[in-house]
Amino acid sequence: MDIDETDEQRRTRDAFTRWLGEVLPADYGDGTPYAGDWDLRRSYQRAAFEAGWLLPAWPVGLGGRGLGPLEALAVQLESARRAAPKLYGPSGVHVVAPALRKLGTPEQQGAYLVPMLRGDVRWCLGMSEPGAGSDFAGLQTAAVRVDDAYVVNGQKIWTSQAHWSTYTMLYCRTDREAPRHRGISCLIVDLRSPGVTVRPIAMATGKDEQFCEVFFDEVVVPADNLLGTENDGWAVAMSALEAERHMLWIMAWAQVDQALHRVVDRAGDAMGDDAAIELGRSVADSYALGFTGWRAVTNQLRGRRSPETSIQKLLGSETLLRISTLTDELVGVDALTDVDLLAAEIDALAAATYGGTSEVQRTIIGERSLGLPR
Ligand SMILES: Cc1cc2nc3c(=O)[nH]c(=O)nc-3n(C[C@H](O)[C@H](O)[C@H](O)COP(=O)(O)OP(=O)(O)OC[C@H]3O[C@@H](n4cnc5c(N)ncnc54)[C@H](O)[C@@H]3O)c2cc1C
Repeated sequence: MDIDETDEQRRTRDAFTRWLGEVLPADYGDGTPYAGDWDLRRSYQRAAFEAGWLLPAWPVGLGGRGLGPLEALAVQLESARRAAPKLYGPSGVHVVAPALRKLGTPEQQGAYLVPMLRGDVRWCLGMSEPGAGSDFAGLQTAAVRVDDAYVVNGQKIWTSQAHWSTYTMLYCRTDREAPRHRGISCLIVDLRSPGVTVRPIAMATGKDEQFCEVFFDEVVVPADNLLGTENDGWAVAMSALEAERHMLWIMAWAQVDQALHRVVDRAGDAMGDDAAIELGRSVADSYALGFTGWRAVTNQLRGRRSPETSIQKLLGSETLLRISTLTDELVGVDALTDVDLLAAEIDALAAATYGGTSEVQRTIIGERSLGLPR
């Protein structure tokens, strides 16, 4: 496809850039850290929802303006390039909302979508368990149907922002006899229900906790809160993760760009031949990441199945990790006390884990895209 910007894309991007200039504080982007500024994140999400820039391809009234995929992509790339604020409730907007819109009942959509998208109510993702991270199908949290409710018992871990969330998208085992992939269901669970305990996990950095353990002890969940079909929670999870991975590559692409600038700024003078070769490889990979993104959009426009999301996730996070390692090697011992570099390194390590680790992405690419034997 032709990847030059169309007039329509440019007009849309300009309109978004103008809006960003109006809505962000004057000192935004001058190096002041903002990720922990939850007031800013909340007001930004609400403003983006109201202006239709939150999910630009979605309909008016649901945080969008009905843009086509190319125009929506131009906005998302610009947002990442300009390091627009992170959202107040990213798990809700980028993972729960797409699944709810695709698979939720009209009642569920009516009750939950707008408050989630506007940033009034935060959601978290209850997937990982102490014995089931990469092996999602191994989850053990159980939901047993009793009359018009499910009774839930079990534990989740690494649940981002559960302590600030009102609801969780919870994956439970509802049929122990079925093959592992088929006996899972997805429930919308109110975290204020009796029997729920949310325990934040202390961070080694000493900063605000981001992750929690969440315990479920005889928690009663109305059967109307089933999302999708009983025992077909796998399909809900795949739909939600596909949406998340689409968002993650755009984030990774922008992070790679920033990391490339950082290594040249901080360590350009110290760069020998080997480092320059490694840098060149990373620059090439950043182009490959962008072009793979465009190929995914082409497939989407042509209604073709797209294997690119796992390639993008893998290439994005691994490139980020390599640039981070190169930067540390060049900066040397000073990297240990450089807060910006440490933060970038932690971000790079995390990116290779959340949304499915690199090893898991390699398996998906090998088995599903290349048809290699299992
Ligand atoms: C920043 C961040 C945010 C997160 N937020 C959430 C959240 O909101 N909700 C949630 O539910 N979870 C969340 N997670 C958890 C995340 O999904 C898991 O960490 C991830 O799925 C890996 O699971 P695990 O940690 O149990 O590692 P494991 O699955 O135990 O893996 C350990 C190592 O073994 C490798 N490995 C495992 N299985 C295989 C295999 N079959 N073949 C090859 N290698 C393998 C992995 O790649 C990894 O290197 C978050 C994680 C991070 C880092």
